[in-house]
Amino acid sequence: MRKRLLCFLLTAALLAGLALPCFAAGTSAQTKQKYPIILVHGMLALPMPDWLISGKQSWLYTQTMLNYEPFTDYEVYAPGIGPVSSSWDGACELYAQLTGTTVDYGEAHSKAHNHPRYGKAYTEPLFAGWSKEKKVHLVGHSYGGLWVRMLETLLRKGDAAERKASGKSVSPLFAGGHDGLVASITTLATPHNGVSALELLDLDSLLGPIGSFFADTGMADFSAKVGLDFLKCNGVAYTEMLRLLQDRNDYSYGEVTIDRMKELNKVMTLNPKVYYFSYAVDATEPDTGGVRKVGKAMSTFPLHITCGFIAGDKGGTTAGGYKYGAEWQSNDGLVNTVSAKYPFGQTMKNVTAYTAAKKGIWNVFPVIEGDHAGVVATGFKDAAYLDAILGNILRGAVAIEAKV
Ligand SMILES: [Zn+2]
Repeated sequence: MRKRLLCFLLTAALLAGLALPCFAAGTSAQTKQKYPIILVHGMLALPMPDWLISGKQSWLYTQTMLNYEPFTDYEVYAPGIGPVSSSWDGACELYAQLTGTTVDYGEAHSKAHNHPRYGKAYTEPLFAGWSKEKKVHLVGHSYGGLWVRMLETLLRKGDAAERKASGKSVSPLFAGGHDGLVASITTLATPHNGVSALELLDLDSLLGPIGSFFADTGMADFSAKVGLDFLKCNGVAYTEMLRLLQDRNDYSYGEVTIDRMKELNKVMTLNPKVYYFSYAVDATEPDTGGVRKVGKAMSTFPLHITCGFIAGDKGGTTAGGYKYGAEWQSNDGLVNTVSAKYPFGQTMKNVTAYTAAKKGIWNVFPVIEGDHAGVVATGFKDAAYLDAILGNILRGAVAIEAKV
């Protein structure tokens, strides 16, 4: 029962930012950057109403970043990824938007995971001229950090199974040999090493039946007919999403366990030509008795509740034999702080300024006091807070471009 309650709370927490107002704040103008910044939201993003009014594409979790005043002077884009896309599927969706092509999930992958090879068709690229001369700065919040890491990996290495399965019709993404198109990767509150909350619950026991219900009863088709499928992200309606949850190996929740991320981190290796930056977030404080508790930095309900659940977990052993303990208690309401710093086993360096950054390793900024939604200013935060994170990304983009 406790597991089901926690699963519900985690899902509710992901949607926590929905009802909260967003605002933009400004700082002084900065030197314009050469390369576009691509802001990638996390899982369960929704199209925001200002998209309907202004025509400017905007998503929950990247809306405030996109409207952050200094960003309006920059070349910044916010593509949309399927609500529960796996790292592979999300990378394919991102690639199609950057190149103005039809999403190609790959012949081998689509057969293995029982979904169509092709997805939404994009007729225009997000911006013109993506090339080695006009690279991109990829910025991912939460799961968005994994989608951008997988995209960079596939661009560089391609995929041998897809080359074999498709021959000449293979997507250029899987062909490989497209190194040099990414200048930097910045992750905000990304679960690089998985989330410990998934060790406390059995996803299959809750999400499996819900997905089967929607598939078996025809609810997904019915809701589409009566117009309830307007809440789409990358062509995937929220009702359809529930069907996808049945393949645990090919959707975001199922992928972000500690054990699965350990395997994925062996695939998503560091590129010596790319700058990697990360910001981890912590909303907890020390408590008596050797556990953490929800701290003053927490500002988004219901992340209060999930933060407390995660902080109260004294640890355990995953199915794959990984022992996690008290160092996993600090969290931002969803993602463990230790998981968001950098992928275990990959080279890292703690930095406080972009001027000290090195290529080909994780440059880890000091932990931000805040919560998972607040870090992208989905909740109430002041201008100084926004500038500390978003302004820093802009300054960093400018600072490193001369070196890539
Ligand atoms: Zn897939």
